[in-house]
Amino acid sequence: MLDFSTIVNILEQMEQTTSRIELTNYLVTLFKNTPSELIDKIIYLIQGKIRPDYEGIEMGIAEKMIIKIISQISDISSSKAYQKYHEIGDLGSVAETILKNKIQTTLFHEKVTMERIYLTFDKISKITGKGSQEIKLKLFASLFNDSSPEECKYIIRFALGTLRLGIAESTIMDALALAFTSDKKNRKILESAYNVSSDLGRVSKILANQGLKAVSAIKIELFIPIRPMLAERVRTAKDALEKSAGKAAVEFKIDGERVQIHKTDKKVQIFSRSLENVTHYYPDVAEASRTINFKNIIIEAEVVAINKNTEEFLPFQELMHRRRKHDIKKIMENYPVFVNVFDILYASGKDKTNLPYIERRELLKEVITKSVDRRLSLIQQRIVGTVKELEKFIAKAIENGCEGVMVKQINSAYRAGAREFAWIKIKREYRSELADTLDLVIIGGSYGRGRRVGKYGALLLAVYDKKENVFKSVCKVGSGFTDEVLEELFKELGKYMIPKKHPRVYSKLDMDSWFVPTIVIEIIASEITLSPEYDAGMNSIREGFGLSLRFPKFTKKIRLDKNPQDITEETELVEMYRKQRNIKL
Ligand code: ATP
Repeated sequence: MLDFSTIVNILEQMEQTTSRIELTNYLVTLFKNTPSELIDKIIYLIQGKIRPDYEGIEMGIAEKMIIKIISQISDISSSKAYQKYHEIGDLGSVAETILKNKIQTTLFHEKVTMERIYLTFDKISKITGKGSQEIKLKLFASLFNDSSPEECKYIIRFALGTLRLGIAESTIMDALALAFTSDKKNRKILESAYNVSSDLGRVSKILANQGLKAVSAIKIELFIPIRPMLAERVRTAKDALEKSAGKAAVEFKIDGERVQIHKTDKKVQIFSRSLENVTHYYPDVAEASRTINFKNIIIEAEVVAINKNTEEFLPFQELMHRRRKHDIKKIMENYPVFVNVFDILYASGKDKTNLPYIERRELLKEVITKSVDRRLSLIQQRIVGTVKELEKFIAKAIENGCEGVMVKQINSAYRAGAREFAWIKIKREYRSELADTLDLVIIGGSYGRGRRVGKYGALLLAVYDKKENVFKSVCKVGSGFTDEVLEELFKELGKYMIPKKHPRVYSKLDMDSWFVPTIVIEIIASEITLSPEYDAGMNSIREGFGLSLRFPKFTKKIRLDKNPQDITEETELVEMYRKQRNIKL
């Protein structure tokens, strides 16, 4: 048993700090106080979920419902509760304030425990169909009746996924290592297990109940997505070859969506880059995969939208039409896709990630030739040993409508979750303007004038400081947006609006609106510049100066497939600035 009030006490303290070390220490206390059978549940709740992402389970609780409950149990009208919500910007705090003023009428309370909260959430997530709203409402109301105003605040934040403490997975893992092994170094073992299981709850439960050895034994399993291997960037073909010891495999880098396909005789499931189950968006990809006459495989591919008539590759944003829940059949016809397979991680019941690239490629070839579906093919590849050969391949890739190429070390294993030079990306953009596009998260907005009245004229963007787990302002962007996209963003951003700057955001600028760092967009710019106004890279190049972007422009890609922790990091930005200036490291 774990009283929820114990957790609330710790959460209240965590809210007051921005220091990563202090946050870690609070988490250690929390984990030490948690009975081992509850540890996974605590981890999920802190991450704003009730199960791992790939299971796709959501509670389906709307703000409207919470307002209704607050109004019911406090005798305050819904409109008044709404009004308060607009003032405060957080429904948890609204409930706390209102309920604190209410005279308590219930004399006997059943103590609210962590188990009870999780069980109620779990029940709620399973309720569907007619009358489900009413049942959910009742379940919540009974929980609230037994809870203190502070407890209600956190129950609401957990339910809506708006805890907003911004705790990174790496911080959780540090704290788990400290709490259960007293040594932060063991985080590496937890990380490896997390990379293949994509489920921190499960890793923590095994750690708490069976120890570190059992954690190291966690293996790849079918239908549990593996965290993807990522690429570093360089500017020229010469640099890429140098980093690959003079010989490398080079592949088309296609501008589509990365998918991980898991397949047995009976079942196919498709996962996105951020480990979401996206099978329902791509029934055609599942159908094509089913034709592979090879048992139990996990392969990776880039799905790309193609022109119906010419079969040429289309840019990434065309794929976003596929992210619809309804009319998928019609959408599939209008936006057909090709599946370009580039890696194999598992075959015939065995983990293949430790095989060198070149052997995985051979195996992949064998596996893919067993498919008869022409939508499915091996990504174009060549082995190159000279800069000239590599440049020729880059030219070919660009001619074929690719974003660039991926240069891969021939002997490298597949390193789940790692961004290393074993994979290097060279993009088309590297040859003009700035060396690369950046993926930045929206943290603020200022209202527009003229045609943009009532919408955002400019958005404030940030890079990610992984070490401190904070987001640092880097530029304002106002160009590259169509009215349609702006409208959509305006609606979407509304869900993440907060009354003041998010505690894990650094910005000297004052904005009209602030957001929880959530929505990621892609930006191209002409140059990285020094600027005293922005916080990214502050003091790393010159005292009193941060880094910003000259002429930033939205590329029209909203990166639905990226979480804020996956965006361009501050260290990468500093590195890009140095490369641009040829400053030696
Ligand atoms: P980007 O913004 O460049 O897509 P990213 O952060 O999403 O970057 P990176 O690891 O930096 O991911 O770049 C690799 C991405 O390129 C993969 O996630 C995948 O979507 C895509 N890609 C296209 N072709 C290939 C390929 N042949 N091999 C690996 N990845 C490929």
